[in-house]
Amino acid sequence: MEERRTFSIATLGCKVNQYDSWRLAGQLKAKGLRQVPFGVPADIVIVNSCTVTHVADAKSRKILSRARSSSPQGLVVLTGCAAELLKKKGEKVPGADLIAGNSEKENLPALLLSWLAKRTPVPLSSGDSPYGSDWSADDEPAHERVRGFLKVQDGCDKFCTFCIIPHTRGLPRSKPIKEVLKEAREMVEVYGFREIVVTGVCLSLWGKEEGNNLNDLIRRLHEVPDLLRIRLSSLDPRDLNADMIRQWRDLPLLCPHFHISLQSGDDEILERMGRGHSTAYYLNLVETIRHYLPTATVTTDILVGFPGETEQHYENSLTFVRQVNFLKVHTFRFSPRPGTPAADWRPQVPPQIAQERCQRMIAASKEMWRKIVEGFAGQRAKVLVERSDPMDGTYCHTGLTENYIRVRWTSPETRPVGSLVTVVLGKVGEEGEWVWASEVLEVSEGSASWQNQYANGDGQ
Ligand code: SF4
Repeated sequence: MEERRTFSIATLGCKVNQYDSWRLAGQLKAKGLRQVPFGVPADIVIVNSCTVTHVADAKSRKILSRARSSSPQGLVVLTGCAAELLKKKGEKVPGADLIAGNSEKENLPALLLSWLAKRTPVPLSSGDSPYGSDWSADDEPAHERVRGFLKVQDGCDKFCTFCIIPHTRGLPRSKPIKEVLKEAREMVEVYGFREIVVTGVCLSLWGKEEGNNLNDLIRRLHEVPDLLRIRLSSLDPRDLNADMIRQWRDLPLLCPHFHISLQSGDDEILERMGRGHSTAYYLNLVETIRHYLPTATVTTDILVGFPGETEQHYENSLTFVRQVNFLKVHTFRFSPRPGTPAADWRPQVPPQIAQERCQRMIAASKEMWRKIVEGFAGQRAKVLVERSDPMDGTYCHTGLTENYIRVRWTSPETRPVGSLVTVVLGKVGEEGEWVWASEVLEVSEGSASWQNQYANGDGQ
């Protein structure tokens, strides 16, 4: 019997990279290759890298060296943003047999297949696989197929002064609506996804070339049969306005959770970052969202330690972040990316000060999360079941509410992964991570669809 060729992928960085990896894996599987977990010897090992900070750069290199040592006879491929930059600089990378930038990702499957045709397969050692010898890509756990990323846009031309992305991802391009809908249908019909996370490098730019906007795309996605939810990934505040936000109210599948990138809550720093808006403008957007969608939550990214950020700038930022009241703040330390204007700006903030500011921002984020989720306690929410695992004679389920609160609850019976369950939100389970909930007795066509063990609505 002919042994199937194998590949593995390690993915770093953003949702766009995760989507690219998922797509690439799908293309290779369609050609008969078998996916194995990263770390298991494989014919092809792909590292889809990130270079957004120097930490991401270092991680990419570390993973690359793990790829090499786990598959000494395999083809080790470095792709993604770090690969793009290295290619541009013409640098060789120890451990990588092939460097393919973002622009070459499309041709990667063909390239890899032609390489494979000339090589003897790397034997799969079943003992190394955490899934055992019978594992195959088709056995992916179902919960990984509930929420899927759909990339609809690539590239950015905003050139924020700290950001390397326009150099690694190129100028903005939107995926045509026909292609988006085709992929979305495939994700739901073939792979069984119930929630699509619409993603892009600068998602809010989608459709600009043709005079469309993101709302046109969301509206069309409502046509996909059996799709239960549409969630948007990161949005740039500059591309939003009150009229767009007002229309979200009439898009029933759109999740009321918006990740709107802020980066700093100080107007002077915002200007030097080249962000093109003020804190007042940002706050007005969030207030408009809350006006039309009262249960909406907002998350963001904050960069601390930007060159010249004084304690006063930082305090202003922290105060503004608290004023907006984010569900979650993804905090990053400034990292000079060669080739961007801010990389050479002085004074740089000493690492220990930046680290301390980072910690304070993370603490503020946790505090806001707790207050917000406690404010929802006792309220009903719909949760998309991602897992339903046996636990001490019952089943423990987990999933996300529409507004991005992760919940857990138990019930005597298992619940189908990918179904929507109504719960009552309860107490915090793990700080900053998830809350307990209880199932609500659902009545459908005059009869209870299942028993409720916590019918009084108290969380556990
Ligand atoms: S908007 Fe700014 S931070 Fe976002 S990708 Fe474009 S240049 Fe980078």
